[in-house]
Amino acid sequence: MKKWVYFFGAGKAEGDGEWRDVLGGKGAGLAEMTRIGLPVPAGFTISTEACDYFYKNNKKFPAELKKQVADNVKRLEKVTGKRLGDPKSPLLVSVRSGSARSMPGMMETILNLGLNSKSVAGLAASTKNERFAYDAYRRFVQMYSTVVMDLPKDELEHRLRAMKDRLGIKEDTAVPASGWKDLVAEYKEHFRKKTGKDFPEDPIEQLWGAIGAVFGSWMAEKAVTYRRVEKITGLLGTAVNVVQMVFGNTGENSGTGVCFTRNPSTGEKEFYGDYLVNAQGEDVVAGIRTPMHLTEMAKTMPKVYAQLEKVRVKLEKHYRDMQDMEFTVEEGKLYMLQTRTGKRTPAAAFRVAVDMANEKLITKEDAILRIKPEDIERLFYPVIDAKVDRKALESTIFAHGIDAVPGAAVGKVVFTAAEAEAWAERKEKVVLVRRETSPEDVGGMAVAQGILTATGGKTSHAAVVARGWGKCCIVGAEKISIDYNAKTMSVGGKTVKQGDWVTLDGSQGTVYLGAQPLVSPELPKSYASLMKWVDQTRKLGVRTNADTPQDSRKAREMGAEGIGLCRTEHMFFTDFEQPEKGAERQRAIQEMILADNREARVKALDKLLPFQRRDFTGIFKAMDGLPVTIRLIDPPLHEFVPHERKKQEELAKDLGLDVEKVARRVEQLHEANPMLGHRGCRLAITYPEILEMQVRAIIEAAIDCQKSGVKVLPEIMIPLALDKKELWILEQATRRVADDIIKKAGVKLPYLFGTMIELPRAALLADEIAEVAEFFSFGTNDLTQTTMGLSRDDAGRFLPDYVDEKKAGVFAADPFQSLDTKGVGMLMRWGIERGRKTRPNLKVGICGEHGGDAESVKFCHKIGMNYVSASPFRVPISRLAAAQVVVEEKLAKKKKRK
Ligand code: PEP
Ligand code: MG
Repeated sequence: MKKWVYFFGAGKAEGDGEWRDVLGGKGAGLAEMTRIGLPVPAGFTISTEACDYFYKNNKKFPAELKKQVADNVKRLEKVTGKRLGDPKSPLLVSVRSGSARSMPGMMETILNLGLNSKSVAGLAASTKNERFAYDAYRRFVQMYSTVVMDLPKDELEHRLRAMKDRLGIKEDTAVPASGWKDLVAEYKEHFRKKTGKDFPEDPIEQLWGAIGAVFGSWMAEKAVTYRRVEKITGLLGTAVNVVQMVFGNTGENSGTGVCFTRNPSTGEKEFYGDYLVNAQGEDVVAGIRTPMHLTEMAKTMPKVYAQLEKVRVKLEKHYRDMQDMEFTVEEGKLYMLQTRTGKRTPAAAFRVAVDMANEKLITKEDAILRIKPEDIERLFYPVIDAKVDRKALESTIFAHGIDAVPGAAVGKVVFTAAEAEAWAERKEKVVLVRRETSPEDVGGMAVAQGILTATGGKTSHAAVVARGWGKCCIVGAEKISIDYNAKTMSVGGKTVKQGDWVTLDGSQGTVYLGAQPLVSPELPKSYASLMKWVDQTRKLGVRTNADTPQDSRKAREMGAEGIGLCRTEHMFFTDFEQPEKGAERQRAIQEMILADNREARVKALDKLLPFQRRDFTGIFKAMDGLPVTIRLIDPPLHEFVPHERKKQEELAKDLGLDVEKVARRVEQLHEANPMLGHRGCRLAITYPEILEMQVRAIIEAAIDCQKSGVKVLPEIMIPLALDKKELWILEQATRRVADDIIKKAGVKLPYLFGTMIELPRAALLADEIAEVAEFFSFGTNDLTQTTMGLSRDDAGRFLPDYVDEKKAGVFAADPFQSLDTKGVGMLMRWGIERGRKTRPNLKVGICGEHGGDAESVKFCHKIGMNYVSASPFRVPISRLAAAQVVVEEKLAKKKKRK
């Protein structure tokens, strides 16, 4: 018989921490904590497999489940010495969701289950606290009504407020037992009216309702959205954890909290967390009350604190990673309710990984695997420019809150998640402002630049979700009063309306009026340490795609070991060093295009030559000692000439030509499908003088640099080649020009001649191509386009459906972002293999966008490339991925040996 339910309690557990797929993260954590002797309330976990079954069988439970749940309830009653529904001292349970991947607050929880009109009296008697018992009961009725029966929350909240108003009370904690009793009666009446049924008295009936609701919440819109945003796929579903209730709200000697074994914002090794006295767990996570710091708890409950500190040490040692724990103190006794790998900011991720490796808790290789590519990306998130006058900045302060997630964000204020999504759709930058966020807001949070809430602590929903995303977030800005109807927020006479610009400084918790200038932040020290380990580990080289000296310098700072792609045509329009000269360059290339004969073209190209030479000189200097791959002109010529009449008139005037002639030439250049037209090296076949000018500029710049002591390693690259003969013609032309200049200069200047592989034909005939080419660089933007027959410029219109699991779901990821290793990858493998058959030392790289995508980089390693090339800001991601794949291969080998 299939086992669907796993018990834990009294120091033993049927599963363990490894069983995340079956028990979910929470269930696995509870089982593991039980096994290692931590104080955990007893309970059982219904597996994610049961949830999978539920959805595959028309929302029916597996036949054996009923009995297995009943047996485990009995076991739980035995271990706890209490019975569900007992009128004297009843057992109460919580029913919680928990999938293999953490989805904070996205799924449902029901607390205090087992209470009914009899057992509530038992609870009152056994705790000698009638007020507490009826408070627990009303919470249960409320949760059951909303979560299981889907009744609107507002109607219940409204009754709670009305009851407090009647009694003239503000705080929940001041409501007397009679108030809660009345409210329970009201809720039940409401339940009857709305559902046509009595509120269930039978705890087992309650339990099944709750189990169904937890399974149901797996497919709730917010959960589905969260998985989409977080790219969580391939899970079976949620587990259901049924756990003995312990109470943090029985009085001043009780409480509840959330804590981290290290600081999740900075990574510092300090005990960090929030604690609320006399409260239930949901109060902390929901961020309704602003909690106190753990250090306060150390003073008020020193014994429990000391015990918690011991748990902290034990758990971190055990899991060898920073943990995020939930605990409850019931009448001075500590219970651990959850432990999971703590979400952290990118800076903290680096610090924790490096510190733990230095503490020998993990290896350096583990540390490398701990960093996610997104961590690196987010590490470069902006801060407010230090150049902004501090006084002036201070004068724009609007409010202060709690610094939940660092970094800064600028955006226009919106007050609902829906609005955030709508504005973002229109390409507006928004800051989402809410009193508190709830999991429903996750879509809006994902698109916002930053998040600001008026309530909540560092572990509130908003903070946890935003931290996971490395998204700037301020919570608990309590002085802000938000008027959702008027779409305004105000503090002390200052009002911000929807659409007004604000700046959040998540590192300080400060909200500023207006859009402040942002700059990239300083990197944490641990970044350098970790990247050093990365560089020692990886085998792939990492170069950059850069077209200017500035980008080249930036890329070098980011760790680039050369240039893998310099797109020379970018220099035809812009002068990056002397912007005022941009127009001159543009006119020169246009003159060349409009020329009727070779002579006139050469004359025009001669004007471009000094510009190109200067560009290359700057780049060679910036890359002193490193290889620089320069690609000759690639785009179709029509991209360089104006299409509007007015601009054509200006051009004709500047060049002293007839405007009709200009218009005719532009017309002539028109192609039905320019991406498959007269572009790439086809241009150099037709107009060899363009190639000659570019090669001259490259070689002259290289010789100049060499003379001034710069070490140059030029690599001349031909785009879009499709045949050996074509490439051979261009090689001859290149060598003729280059070797002649070198000879005349009387110097030695080794250079390489190679090609991009961007067409299936070139990949298929790589053995022939390699007879001419000394290196290959896979241009996977075009290779993806030409292999799939999907336009890289237009496919964006329908590709989202191809990637969306709920729609066509043809691809797991956009093939223009992450390599289609199956199809395009097959050509790459073949191309490398065949190319090296001809030329064993053939150097192979990639310079399509995929060179900066972690998964694609790993693939490039596996197929034996020499290097990848990525845009400057993605260089560290490529370095990391190149190291991770080495470690992963090593681990896989070890596992195989075992
Ligand atoms: C490519 O096609 O992958 C490439 C790098 O060239 P471009 O993007 O300039 O066409
Ligand atoms: Mg290309």
